[in-house]
Amino acid sequence: MAKKAFKSESKRLLELMINSIYTHKEIFLRELISNASDAMDKLYYRTLSDENLSFNRDDFYIRLEADKEKRTLTVTDTGIGMTKEELEENLGTIAKSGSLKFKSENEKLEDVDIIGQFGVGFYSAFMIADKVTVLSRALESDTAYQWEAEGTDGYTVKEAEKETVGTQIVLSLKANTEDENYDEFLDEYRLRSIVKKYSDYIRYPIMMEVTKSRPKADNDKEYEQYREVETLNSMVPIWKKTKSELTDEDYNSFYKDKFYDFENPLSVIHTSADGMTSYTALLYIPAHAPFDFYTKDFEKGLQLYANGVLIMESCAELLPECFRFVKGLVDSADLSLNISREILQHDRQLKAIASHLQKKIKSELLNMLKNDREKYEAFFKNFSRQIKFGVYENFGKDKDLLKDLLIFWSSTEKKMVTLSEYVSRMKEDQKHIYYACGESIEKIEKLPQTELVAEKGCEILYFTDDVDEFSIQMLREFDGKTFKSVSAGDLDIESEEEKKENEKKKEENKDLFLFLKDALGDKVKEVRASTRLKSHPVCLTSDGALSLEMEKVLNAMPNDQKVKAERVLEINVNHPIFEKIAGLLDSNKDKLKQYAQVLYDSALLIEGLPIEDPVTYTNLICELMQ
Ligand code: ADP
Repeated sequence: MAKKAFKSESKRLLELMINSIYTHKEIFLRELISNASDAMDKLYYRTLSDENLSFNRDDFYIRLEADKEKRTLTVTDTGIGMTKEELEENLGTIAKSGSLKFKSENEKLEDVDIIGQFGVGFYSAFMIADKVTVLSRALESDTAYQWEAEGTDGYTVKEAEKETVGTQIVLSLKANTEDENYDEFLDEYRLRSIVKKYSDYIRYPIMMEVTKSRPKADNDKEYEQYREVETLNSMVPIWKKTKSELTDEDYNSFYKDKFYDFENPLSVIHTSADGMTSYTALLYIPAHAPFDFYTKDFEKGLQLYANGVLIMESCAELLPECFRFVKGLVDSADLSLNISREILQHDRQLKAIASHLQKKIKSELLNMLKNDREKYEAFFKNFSRQIKFGVYENFGKDKDLLKDLLIFWSSTEKKMVTLSEYVSRMKEDQKHIYYACGESIEKIEKLPQTELVAEKGCEILYFTDDVDEFSIQMLREFDGKTFKSVSAGDLDIESEEEKKENEKKKEENKDLFLFLKDALGDKVKEVRASTRLKSHPVCLTSDGALSLEMEKVLNAMPNDQKVKAERVLEINVNHPIFEKIAGLLDSNKDKLKQYAQVLYDSALLIEGLPIEDPVTYTNLICELMQ
């Protein structure tokens, strides 16, 4: 019998697929099972409207059979079947399929990406088989037909025998090669796991005869093997059950199984929405960040199902960047199984779901923050950097979404507090939200710069993360209150009297400060009388937008351009040391120069910054001690 040629486009896709990389090959089974399930859906709906048809629920099933000797894998369904014309139309051409079109419009894309991400239907069978034989009998037809194709050569169709309505697909596996072992698709264990992975929730039983073992009847020490038909899929997805049907344990074990975590999640969000695109989502907030979370290897995304069938392992579009730590899945009946082929068209549907999920995740986190602070702090410990980066990223696009989720250590409460808690406690005349930066809470506690703000009774937030000050600068304000570092040039906290007093001291010691500035050269922008120091002798602060902390962070980055904050050396004029140096201006200018250096280096040390010349510093100290 003469072979009919595949339409040219089909031939191209076939070749593309046959040469795809091996790891994606297993999806052929998902595709065939989905087709089988669709065919049964079609038949099932017909039975609902046609009284002449009588089928039982039990009549619908998919059967897998692996024959190791013949090296065939057979997928049989009891669906609606195909007529001769349908076999030719459906399997002889894939012109209507979106993947090929996509490919031609994006020639640069790697072939493998197309196979991996885009469902390719029936043709995926050719990834593992060199011959595919489809035997099908359509509903209300007495004749069956056999469609057969070997590779891309073309196909034949002929009349055949089949007792019942439905379709049987026999895959004759390709010969094993050095790199690729096709025999694995005959392995019961492997087949079961592929079904579990992709088709667990198919609503019809997927059955396979498997080998089991049991103790012998007459001797329970010895085992015998026997064959039994097993249903491989669970058929009901957990997310399709109602919350009341499910226990914490159900949610948790599903999570651990599905997302390969050893720890229970911190929180579960199980939600449904009706609307333009109705869907159910089951989301989890993990208890810890995956080891690669803060690297570029980490891939965010949710699993995407179309009516119980997994169509995408990781759909990044569904998760906002700031919540990329969330794990879970979305199932929608409104997405076609082929969504992945036409992902661009579905973009709007996905965006709508994503924006809804974003709100859900935020409210879940806020809820946790309000009702279970301990849990929230555990969450924050793991994912705070993500939240803070989220505030900062994309020029603050998500800052309003995330600002309520920030917590920082409070100097007065001695615990983590939210910005709104801080604002609610602000003193009547307090204009700013004060913060101090440092390596750790303990180190910040000791910073001289905090003295005045603390003495005025203001709460100070401690920033111990690199990203903190950057995020806060992006935020600019919270509830109308601007942020101010305790090291900022102008603290905006002094009373009028204090300000006058300062001006006076500045004037009185003008010459001394000028001399000190000269002695230090361009190391500092200015030396001035400190308003913020109470008991400590000196500190460093900065004028302008770039703080010393930010300078540290930016200069630690692998980047040639180094930045420099405008440093100001502040001296406490009420400290005993001040009298001493003031006296030196007239009596010993050389000594005063040395003192200037020591004071500056000391301020650097307090700030956690390296000093230029530790040896000279130490020698000077020793000299002074003598
Ligand atoms: P898709 O499923 O995306 O339409 P396929 O290439 O997988 O693309 O299948 C093409 C068509 O062949 C299906 O739409 C369906 O009409 C028909 N078909 C495939 N498998 C079966 C089956 N097992 N039973 C009945 N019809 C089938």
